[in-house]
Amino acid sequence: MTKLGWTILTLIVLSVLAFGSMLSFGPGNGPSPVARMKARFEKATPNDLGLVIPVAGVARASLVDTWGAPRGGGTRHHEAVDIMAPGGAPVVAAAAGTVEKLFQSDAGGITAYVRSPSRGWVYYYAHLSGYAPGLAEGKRLAAGDPVGFVGDTGNAGPGNTHLHFGVSRMRAGDGWWGGEPVNPYPLLAGKASPR
Ligand SMILES: [Zn+2]
Repeated sequence: MTKLGWTILTLIVLSVLAFGSMLSFGPGNGPSPVARMKARFEKATPNDLGLVIPVAGVARASLVDTWGAPRGGGTRHHEAVDIMAPGGAPVVAAAAGTVEKLFQSDAGGITAYVRSPSRGWVYYYAHLSGYAPGLAEGKRLAAGDPVGFVGDTGNAGPGNTHLHFGVSRMRAGDGWWGGEPVNPYPLLAGKASPR
């Protein structure tokens, strides 16, 4: 090989090594995907992390990621997490917020929409059998405060008692019905979906 050839080869090897060192000698091995995801949420809502499991007595480990499951014979997708529980089990606030709307709908049945203190998130509780005593629009809730009771109202199906729990990212000006649903599973389970 010519001298020029060796020079070019040396430059290539050096640049590959330099690139490799940037990858491997950065700040540690970098955050895990879950940590990066959590960091994004932390950036948006520093006070809204650490969601409580919104049904009393349900273990974090028993949650199932039902986000995206087909509904309505495949005509739509599930934009929440269903938490199976006996009828009448206490539903509690997953995070602090203000009750923005108490609403009855064909799909959700008896529902509650709770807006985070930052106003950046809405937590949605559906298929309730009823509200906790004293729950009213405008009431401020701490995480763990009573919201209502697990039921099968709306399109849950008779006897299919569960809490349909949704989380929506809200932009300024979004009403309680608006926002962009995000998967609550990682926020509740504290880990990425096993799927
Ligand atoms: Zn559901």
